[in-house]
Amino acid sequence: MVFEKAERLRRLPPYLFKEIDRLKAEITAKGVDVINLGVGDPDLPTPRHIIEKLDEAAQKPANHQYPSYSGMNDFKVSVAGWYKRRFGVELDPLKEVITLIGSKEGIAHLPLAFINPGDLALVPTPAYPVYHVATMFAGGESYFMPLVKENRFLPDLDAIPPEVARKAKLMFINYPNNPTGATAERDFYERVIDFARQYDVIICHDAAYTEMGFGGYRPMSFLEVPGAKEIGIEFHSLSKTYNMTGWRLGFAVGNAEVLDGLGQVKSNIDSGAFNAIQYAGIAALEGDQSCVTEMQKIYQERLETLINGLQKVGLEPEIPKATFYVWCPTPKGYSSKDFSSLLLGKAGIVTTPGSGFGDPGEGYIRMALTVSKERIQEAVERIQKLSF
Ligand SMILES: *Cc1c(COP(=O)(O)O)cnc(C)c1O
Repeated sequence: MVFEKAERLRRLPPYLFKEIDRLKAEITAKGVDVINLGVGDPDLPTPRHIIEKLDEAAQKPANHQYPSYSGMNDFKVSVAGWYKRRFGVELDPLKEVITLIGSKEGIAHLPLAFINPGDLALVPTPAYPVYHVATMFAGGESYFMPLVKENRFLPDLDAIPPEVARKAKLMFINYPNNPTGATAERDFYERVIDFARQYDVIICHDAAYTEMGFGGYRPMSFLEVPGAKEIGIEFHSLSKTYNMTGWRLGFAVGNAEVLDGLGQVKSNIDSGAFNAIQYAGIAALEGDQSCVTEMQKIYQERLETLINGLQKVGLEPEIPKATFYVWCPTPKGYSSKDFSSLLLGKAGIVTTPGSGFGDPGEGYIRMALTVSKERIQEAVERIQKLSF
């Protein structure tokens, strides 16, 4: 038998982290104490009160059955309440909120609802890879919008040719941004809304990092801007805010018709998120939010340690106002891969080459603040001993 893979798998972008993975395995095997700044996965545990709620909800047989496709009403009401408290945004829990099995799931399924073969999606680059891959899986093509320093890592909407804009069905944006750590403000979202109206494009804003501001900065929701709900949706997640990446719980909010399309796809593919996890999600959204403030403080200390250390060796990292990433230009003469390999091979530090997120990420590495301040300090000391 020959198991020939489908075209959509053969068209997947090459896995650019292969070389780093190989090096990491080799170095770990040698017994090197590796410091992993490569993954965007919180190292801190889920807060106690959320785990206790899961414990309790998992004991109830009623929660063992299939959940409702579009999400448990109580959870959706809870999400609407959180949006109101946090952003001042009013949502109809029945029509303007949908529960997701993590926001990645929703992002990945959305193009199946709106992209026909040959349609375009406007996709940022460098970016979370799911926007492009999901577009491609739906038979669409990505038109890439480069995120570069000159434009503060925001897409230049005026640079999108009108004939491209007219063919586009979706636009993905993501602020606070992974991997660049950039943030967006009201004026940018206003321009996005104008663009969406002019060209009939659905805006999909990935807002996974709004709760991860530094120094008291509180990123806004795209839906705070008048008109946003008419043209788009926002994806959100409990993963980063409450250290719940493994639990798989997220949601999308905003335009009811767009969410209805997403819901139709989902009801034919998955059967919703475990009810006990949705109850735990309610405990997260409605419970004491001091766990979030605590987390912000911890990341802030780590950020300062890393930024100070990098600046001491002459590197000029972007200083993020939110997320848990530092986007750092490589030293002169080093490509993203060269510098990542140097840090791993000579200092035992795993970072992510920026080029792995898309071509304009070349010349940068991404460092995640997902190890303790002491380990970051250790990483900084190791970097100071290198010459580049
Ligand atoms: C981590 C992350 C998410 C969250 O994914 P979940 O599926 O909710 O865990 C979404 N978007 C971006 C850009 C991320 O980095």
